[in-house]
Amino acid sequence: MNKIKIMSEHLANKIAAGEVVERCASVVKELVENSIDANSSEIKIELIDAGTREIKVTDNGSGMNHDDALLAFSRHATSKLLTEEDLFNISSLGFRGEALPSIASVSEITLKTSTGDIGTLINSKAGKIISEEKTDARVGTTITVKNLFYNTPARLKHLKSLHAELAAITDYVNKIALSHPNIKFSLYNNHKLLFNTDGSNNLLKVIKDVYGIEVAKKMIEIKNSNNDYSIYGYISYPEVTRSTRNSIVTIVNGRIVKNMELNKVINDAYHTYKPEDRYPIVVLKIEVDSSLIDVNIHPTKQDIKFSKMDTIKELITNTIEQQLKSISLIPNVESKTIKPAIKYEIPTLDLEREVKTEHNLIQEEIVEYEPKVKERLPELYPVGLIHGTYIVCQNDLGMYLIDQHAAQERINYEKYLYELGRPTNNKIDMLIPLTIEMPNNEYIILKENLHILTSLNFEVEEMGINTIVVKAHPIWLPKGYEDQAIRKIIDIVIDKEHFETEKFNEKVSITLSCKLSIKANENITIEEMEHLINNLRQCANPFTCPHGRPTIVFYSNYELERMFKRVI
Ligand code: ZN
Ligand code: ZN
Repeated sequence: MNKIKIMSEHLANKIAAGEVVERCASVVKELVENSIDANSSEIKIELIDAGTREIKVTDNGSGMNHDDALLAFSRHATSKLLTEEDLFNISSLGFRGEALPSIASVSEITLKTSTGDIGTLINSKAGKIISEEKTDARVGTTITVKNLFYNTPARLKHLKSLHAELAAITDYVNKIALSHPNIKFSLYNNHKLLFNTDGSNNLLKVIKDVYGIEVAKKMIEIKNSNNDYSIYGYISYPEVTRSTRNSIVTIVNGRIVKNMELNKVINDAYHTYKPEDRYPIVVLKIEVDSSLIDVNIHPTKQDIKFSKMDTIKELITNTIEQQLKSISLIPNVESKTIKPAIKYEIPTLDLEREVKTEHNLIQEEIVEYEPKVKERLPELYPVGLIHGTYIVCQNDLGMYLIDQHAAQERINYEKYLYELGRPTNNKIDMLIPLTIEMPNNEYIILKENLHILTSLNFEVEEMGINTIVVKAHPIWLPKGYEDQAIRKIIDIVIDKEHFETEKFNEKVSITLSCKLSIKANENITIEEMEHLINNLRQCANPFTCPHGRPTIVFYSNYELERMFKRVI
């Protein structure tokens, strides 16, 4: 049976309006997705000069018979989309059939394909079929695209540098491999292997192939479901982060999706566990009934709309937060690992070389992560202080360094957040009422929002022109810093952005905890250190300050011995 059918002109035009083949990566994407649709278990991608001279994709999928192969070159052919309705229920990877004619019109193509009978070999140039013959019967398809855009110099000029093209292709192949761990992928450039996976359907193994063994060792498996969605995947320890959101990969019903809201939910679940400008490595598969999603019908966009966004958000947030809360997250200091942090950030100039070297390291086994639920922060005995900043502690396992400012900041942050969330009637009259004069514009904003201060148990009165007087304050304000704390809170009220209660409380807690905690270069006694560690232990997250920096790092006995060459 012929798999490709002609779709209606109307629909074809609709798609063609948005269809773009603009880069080597978009060609690779179309060809690879066709191979996936043909049920291939092995897909090989070979590039010459990052695809600008040649892109060859070989698969072991079902192949095409002679008529289908010919039809594939004609415009508006598709094997998947038959009616306009289908566009909205589409749960396959994207658009089929339309891509090949578009690619063919701007390149030279050789298509070799067989379903197991006599094979077909077709050559085309600038969209015209120039030869057609019978060939051997190896099941599957090989498409070679040469000299992309040779007949459209304007678009050729538009191609970025070879490195940028290669980086975009690598990024795409990495992601498609993550979304299909059951398919064996290999990617070559100028006959050099850049990347491959083994098709064993082990997601963690693919993560290792993409990000390296050191990252794979620091990934935590997650799995959960609710009535509408089920999620499965891996999230990184908060200490493993990247400088772009590109390391958050979401896959909905097997399709790679770029959804800002979803990325934000995942990133927010790490709130205060990592710096704001860093992003976790996450590979998350979401399964959902296709009636609950809308695939954006613009084929170059990979976005999607969820009709029950709230429940998926809640599921993701709870699952990640629960997982982070159940394990110990003290970073191990290891003298050997300096390199992996920047690897695979794309685009990188030395991409090709780095990927190569990575492959030599990868033979090590990945030890599956086992959550240690018992004591998140172990028993610690402080022995001294370095530069009035780092508390040195020890126990049977090794040595710990605690940043006393970061630790105090975390303790105060959680305390303030708690107090702000549950205002009581306990307030303290100020010995000397605090008078604050401010510019007229700020005064107007403050006057409108005085209720925020009153609800927090401040007693505030207007006094004369552009001046207020604070007569009492809530009991939890840091002792000795009351005036400063009040001024900071008023600043935040005036700064309009934070009127939403949750954000306001967050901002107040971070600001007060940072500005009014022990600073570096402040000597504290061993007793005070013990007290600090005990308070840190009570925290919901004792491992990072509210800015996401570590409060504590660990040097294992083994690591210490290694550093001093007592062991090798
Ligand atoms: Zn700070
Ligand atoms: Zn901090």
